[in-house]
This record gives sequence, C-alpha cells and structure tokens, in this order.
Amino acid sequence: MKAQPTASHFIDGAFVEDTSGAVIEVIYPATGAVLARLHEATPALIDRALAAAARAQGDWAALRPVERARILRRAADLIRAHGEELARLETLDTGKPLQETRVADWPSGADALEYFAGLAPTVTGETIPLGRDFIYTLREPLGVCVGIGAWNYPSQIACWKSAPALAFGNAMVFKPSEVTPLSALRLAEIYMQAGLPPGLFNVVQGRGAVGGALITDARVAKVSLTGSVPTGRKVYAAAAEGMRYVTMELGGKSPLILFDDANLDDAVGAAMMANFYSSGQVCSNGTRVFVQKGLKDAFLARLKERSEAIRLGDPLEEATQMGPLVSQTQLDKVMGYIDTAKREGARLVTGGARADLNSGYFVQPTVFADVTDDMTLAREEVFGPVMAVLDFDTEAEAIARANATEFGLAAGVFTADLTRAHRVVGQLQAGTCWINAYNLTPVEGPFGGNKASGVGRENGHAAVQHYTQVKSVYVGMGPVDASF
Ligand code: NAD
Repeated sequence: MKAQPTASHFIDGAFVEDTSGAVIEVIYPATGAVLARLHEATPALIDRALAAAARAQGDWAALRPVERARILRRAADLIRAHGEELARLETLDTGKPLQETRVADWPSGADALEYFAGLAPTVTGETIPLGRDFIYTLREPLGVCVGIGAWNYPSQIACWKSAPALAFGNAMVFKPSEVTPLSALRLAEIYMQAGLPPGLFNVVQGRGAVGGALITDARVAKVSLTGSVPTGRKVYAAAAEGMRYVTMELGGKSPLILFDDANLDDAVGAAMMANFYSSGQVCSNGTRVFVQKGLKDAFLARLKERSEAIRLGDPLEEATQMGPLVSQTQLDKVMGYIDTAKREGARLVTGGARADLNSGYFVQPTVFADVTDDMTLAREEVFGPVMAVLDFDTEAEAIARANATEFGLAAGVFTADLTRAHRVVGQLQAGTCWINAYNLTPVEGPFGGNKASGVGRENGHAAVQHYTQVKSVYVGMGPVDASF
C-alpha cells in the first residue's frame, strides 16, 4: 500500500521537493507498513514559504470578502466531492476507521470552510461618535499566520486553522504533525483547484525544529498550535518573544459527570464516545468519568458489555468501529499508563492489553474502575482508549474534584435535572461544556480551553477576534484645538 504524495511540501502554488531535508517515514498504523517517505523542510524552503505568504497576503486582503468567500466555498464543495478518496487518505495516515473518517474528519473541515466563507463578508468595524469628531474601527487581517498541527485530526486541524485565516484576509504557512503529513498537502491542492492564488496556503513538513523556525521569523504575525501542553508552553514563549498573537489548542483531562438520574444508556454511550472514538486520541475526551454511587453498578455492567462488543480491526474494513493508535510511540505510552494504573490499584473492568492484529498498534478498549484522584490515570493525559471511572456522592464534591486539575479543556454533565445541569456547568472550569451530550464540536460553536489547556478559541464568531486586529481611526472634523 502506498500513499506517496507528489512532493513533500507545497509552496507558492506548487509541490516542492528538497531531498536534503531529514527523512520522515509515513507509517500505516494498522500494519506498521511504510506508506510514503517525505523530507523535512530545509531553512531555504521555510524561507520560501514565508516569503510567498508575505508577498501574496496584501492582494488577498484587498479583495472583497465575498470574493475570498467564493473560493473557500468552492474548496468546501471539492472536499465533499472527493469525500471517499479523502476519507481513505485520512484512514491511512491516522489509522482511524473509515466509519469515522467518512463523517468526522474532512467533513468537519469542509464545514469550517463553508462557515467562514459565510462569516467573512459580515465582519465589520464600528463607528464611535464623539460629538463633532468620531472614530471608526476596521477589522484588519493579521498578515502571515503559522499553523502547527497535531496528528489526531490532521485534516480537520488544517481546515480549522486555514479557513478563518484565509476568510479574513491572512496567508498561512502550515506545518502538519510529522506523524500525519499527508492530508495538508491534499488540502493545498484543493485550495489551488478552487482558485486560491499561489502563496496563500503553504505546507512545509518537519518536526519540532521546523515549527520553531517558523514561529520565530519576523514576518509572522500569529501562531496557532494544536498540540500538547509541554509543546504549547514552548511555542507560546517563543511567540511572546516576537509579540505574536497566539491560539493554543492543547491537551486535557476532562471530567464527565454522570448523576444518578442520568439515562443509563445515554450515559454509557457518551462515556464510550468520550473515550474510545479515534481510539481515545481526542483532546477533549472525558477521560475522568465521575459516576454517582447510585448509578455505578448498572453503569459498569452495561459499559463492560458494550465495550466488549466493539469491533476492533482493519480501519479500511467497513464494519470496523475502532482502529489502532497512531504510532509505536503512542502505543508504548498508552501501555505504560495501563501498567501504571494496574500497579497503583485501579480495578480493571475490561481490556487492558494490546490486541494482536497484523502488527498494528492496537489496544483493547480499556476501563478502570475505583480510580482515585491521586492516581496517575486520573491526573495525566493518556491519549488512548483508556477510561478512568471515579465514584462520587454529592454535587459539590463532583464539581470540586472535576476542577482539581491544571487542565480546563472540556467537561460534560449527564442528569435529568436541568437546573442542576446548568448550575454545575456554571461552576466547571472548562472552555467547552456539554449537557447530556459529549464531544460534539460543530463549527458554529467556539472551541478551546481554559487554564493549561489553551489560549484563544477556534470556530464560531469567536474566531474573528483571533484572526483579525482592530484599527482605530480618529477623524477630526474641525479646527485643531492647539494648547500652544
Ligand atoms: P505535540 O505537542 O507533540 O506536537 C504538536 C505539533 O507541534 C507537531 O506538529 C510538532 O511537530 C510541533 N512541535 C513540537 N515541538 C515544537 C516546537 N518546539 N516548536 C514548534 N512546534 C513544535 O502533540 P501531538 O502529540 O502531535 O498531539 C497530541 C496532543 O495534541 C495532545 O496533547 C492533545 O490533547 C492535543 N490536541 C489538542 C487539541 C485541541 O484543540 N485543544 C486538538 C487535538 C489535539
């Protein structure tokens, strides 16, 4: 099986190769087979990409918003028209089953293109009357934006960053994760086909050092990172040095609180979606499942039964519901957390081992019960199909324990008592919350984290503030009142 792209990079409207860059091997996680060999961007290529973006951005910003929007909408249509091919590519790159990549990854990227195309022409300033004089404000693009992606949602992340950037008149240089470098190159091709002028969306490949070189360049106005908290700290600090805008979409250890009066099947289904979708490799996953004591036994029994029925296997098979983890590194990390959970006394309810399938990086859907707040499993982001179930008695206790973490990405509450649901959500320290739902992130809603989980918001109207800046223009209408 091969998925070799035309070249490693896409710069100024064309595929570009430079084999002097270090090799990046693209591995199919379901078998360990090498799908493609790419090269990291050299300093000369990074410079070319930034120069192209800086050159192209001015003319792009000068277009009417409806003209920019038309191109983004065409790109959204192309993504939908190539849906099956793109889903397969994402499955090869990430190991996620087709059942997911057909409906979640590129489709949510297309939604972002369509949404920001619609929003672009509505972005306006305001007029502030001052009696005789007045001020008007303009919302201007930032300039050249750098996007740096994680490997868990590569196509979605590339679209969620580039769509608002481009819609509001910016240019972007995007560096995908070195683990999943393929889909961003397809997105660049699609943008070109849709009529995006050269230089506005460039893709350079590489590991952390390439990201580092991008964010410290003087031509860059903004950095949007999706990644882990430790990487976020480094990137934020480097961006601060150059006084650049940032959006930080980072990790989490989000609480999902299930009260006794929750609908049992909904609670179980949500907990499974919040831990096993994408083999648990979702930033906003509800990995600390707080279950009120009256619901606990029924919850665990149903959860075990449904978890053991999950069809794990070849992600290209239509029937497969769960695929492998993305890489050997991730597999080792997740197995390490499972061993630690066992050693620290968590009770294994189901799973807890590798699944031996075609030398892929498969882990069984795993549930631990009787997890306590001090266990590693309750404190650190695992990023694998490992659910921690914790018991609680009272609402106040659940809220306090849910908030006792450095993270603040997401949170969920299941209860039949709507008053309680809103009261609890009002006290949860998380950027994105769900009531009787979990992990639904339509582009219409702002998404992002509090505390160590991030800065800024993607999607929704909130994204306007993160890809534009305000210019304030004072207009003097009369004689200058000079004191001298
Ligand atoms: P990572 O932090 O290892 O890498 C993220 C990206 O940063 C990669 O492209 C990497 O090459 C780059 N990078 C690494 N060091 C860098 C440096 N010093 N300077 C510039 N760039 C650098 O994360 P990952 O393992 O790819 O992804 C998983 C993490 O992403 C998890 O923590 C997950 O929670 C998080 N995530 C967050 C969101 C969100 O929206 N909040 C979404 C998806 C994933």
